[in-house]
Amino acid sequence: MAQLRFTFGTMGSGKSTQALQIHHNLRARGLDTILTTQLDRTDGRVSSRLGVSADAETVESHTDLFELVRRRMARRGSVDAVICDEVQFYAPVQCEQLARVVDELAVDVYAFGLLTSFQGELFPGTARMLELADLRTEIQVEARCWCGARATHNARFVDGEQVVSGQLKVVGDTGGPTAGEVTYDLLCRAHWLDGARKARGSQLELLDSDDARSAGDDDDHSGPVEVDPGAVPTPLRAT
Ligand SMILES: [Zn+2]
Repeated sequence: MAQLRFTFGTMGSGKSTQALQIHHNLRARGLDTILTTQLDRTDGRVSSRLGVSADAETVESHTDLFELVRRRMARRGSVDAVICDEVQFYAPVQCEQLARVVDELAVDVYAFGLLTSFQGELFPGTARMLELADLRTEIQVEARCWCGARATHNARFVDGEQVVSGQLKVVGDTGGPTAGEVTYDLLCRAHWLDGARKARGSQLELLDSDDARSAGDDDDHSGPVEVDPGAVPTPLRAT
């Protein structure tokens, strides 16, 4: 019985490493697998922080994953498993296509993704995977906030200040004059919430002091900036 498995965690919890490990183990047994990813720094590859990488199919917004697997099966005779990295960025409909791969093509799917964004909310792709998956597993990694508590939340910083607004997925190079340096860090819930409250507060101040012209675009003051959600988070600050 094929299954849809979804494994999730924070940045740096080793999701890509696990994806690559499964890919490697199945291939070593002569099984035919498809590895997919999105928005990796190196095009068309899944790479882990520990230095392993493998060629992967890049999932675009228009990619039909069901068709991709079906066509590969027609060409090669069989596909034994599909391993998907960065699933948080897949469209909900693409998550449904993965469910159809399991149900209609009887192919196992191993999906990996971040649980929540820097805004502290489920990614759309993650939400759909949680709704659809046969098995949901959280990767537990002993990451620590700078205060020493268990780090559970992804935080985005622009020029060192935690932000909670901006695009979920930002590609391309540093753009407009207001774009700053973007970094990521893992925080405990208390410190994530504390930073988020301050960020919202300064956003409200901005709105108060600005005229109506800018009130409509409070969503993204930072403009397009370079972001790699799979990037190594900046080292935890010393306590
Ligand atoms: Zn903390």
